[in-house]
Amino acid sequence: MQPNQQKLISAAPALRKALLWWFMKHQRPMPWRQKISAYRTVVSELMCQQTQIATATPYFERWVARWPDFKALAKASESDVLKLWAGLGYYSRARNLLRLAKEVALLKETPRTAEAWQQYPGVGPYTAAAIASIAFREPVAVVDGNVIRVLARLTGHRALMKNGITAARHFTPLANQLVAAQSPGDFNQAMMELGATVCRKASPDCSACPLSRWCVAKAQKTTALIPKFETKKRTVQQVHRALIMKDRKILLHRQDSQARRLAGVAEIPDIQNLNIKTKTAPVFVKRRTIGQVTYEENLIVLKLNKSVQQSIHRSAQCEWVDVDQLDDAAVSGPHRRWLAEWLSLSDQPKLGRRT
Ligand code: SF4
Repeated sequence: MQPNQQKLISAAPALRKALLWWFMKHQRPMPWRQKISAYRTVVSELMCQQTQIATATPYFERWVARWPDFKALAKASESDVLKLWAGLGYYSRARNLLRLAKEVALLKETPRTAEAWQQYPGVGPYTAAAIASIAFREPVAVVDGNVIRVLARLTGHRALMKNGITAARHFTPLANQLVAAQSPGDFNQAMMELGATVCRKASPDCSACPLSRWCVAKAQKTTALIPKFETKKRTVQQVHRALIMKDRKILLHRQDSQARRLAGVAEIPDIQNLNIKTKTAPVFVKRRTIGQVTYEENLIVLKLNKSVQQSIHRSAQCEWVDVDQLDDAAVSGPHRRWLAEWLSLSDQPKLGRRT
C-alpha cells in the first residue's frame, strides 16, 4: 500500500468520526433512507445505477407503493414492470430486478452478504456491497465513481488510470480498511454523498469538506488534476427514425423480449429496420450520448403511402399505439419525450428544427 494510503488508514478513527458527523448533518433526504430494508435498498440501488437520484426518486416511490416487497414484485408481469420503469432507461435493470425478486421470494431467508448478493442478476460488486452494508451492516466498502474521486484526492493519486473498473480495483483495499465497522452503511453513503455534493468533479468545495485536514490534493493544490483517466475516443452515429401516424395512432417498433438492449420496450422505428429509403428532411434532430457514442437521431415524418404500408406489413415487431395510450405503452424515455414534443406541434411537420 502506498505511503499516503497508509497515512489515511492511520487516521481512520478520526476520519470516520468526522465523515459520519458531517453525513448526519448534511445528508440529502431520500425515500430509501427513511425506512431501510433489503428490498428497498435493492430497488434504490438498481434504480440509481446510471440514473440521477432526483430522476429515480419518484420512480422509487411509485415502485414500492405498488410492489412493497420481494414477494409482491415476484408476482408482477414483465410488461407491468417495464411500464413502471419506462423513462428511466437501461431497461435490463428492470428485468433483472424482476428476476432477482422471483429468486429471492422463494428463499426462507434473504441473503445477507455482498458475496451472496453478487450471484443475482444485475448485481455487481458495487451494488452488492451497497446492499450488504446498508441493509445488513456488513463492513464492506462501496467504491463507485464518487468514492474513487474522494479517495484519489485524499491520497493525492496523480497516476493515470485506465477506467472506473481499474480505479475501483486500485482503491477497494483502502476503502475496505477505512469503512466503519459499526455503521458501514452510513459510512458508504457518506462517502458517496461527499463525492456527489462536496468533492465534486469540477470545483470541489474543500472549505465545506469534513476530510480536508487529511487531503493531499487540497494541500498540494492539485484537486483539478485528480483523478486522471485515459481519454476515450468518441464517435458520432447517424440514426434515421420514421414518425408515421394513422388516425390517432402512432407506429412504434417493439424490441423482442430476448433482445440485448431494450427488450420488450417500444421506440420510434428506425428507417433502416423498416427498409424504407427517403430523402425527406428531419422534423427534429436529437442528440444523445450513450457511453462513447453520440447518436444523432433524425426524426422524419413519413406519409402512410402504399410502399410504407408494405414495409410496415413486413416488420413483425411494429405496432400501432393510440396516442392517448402512450403513457401505458412501455416506450423508452427519450422517445416518449420526442413523441410528446412532436405531437404538441400544432403545425407539424416543421422542417429542419434542431435541438
Ligand atoms: S478537501 Fe477538497 S479535494 Fe479533498 S476530499 Fe475534501 S472536497 Fe475533495
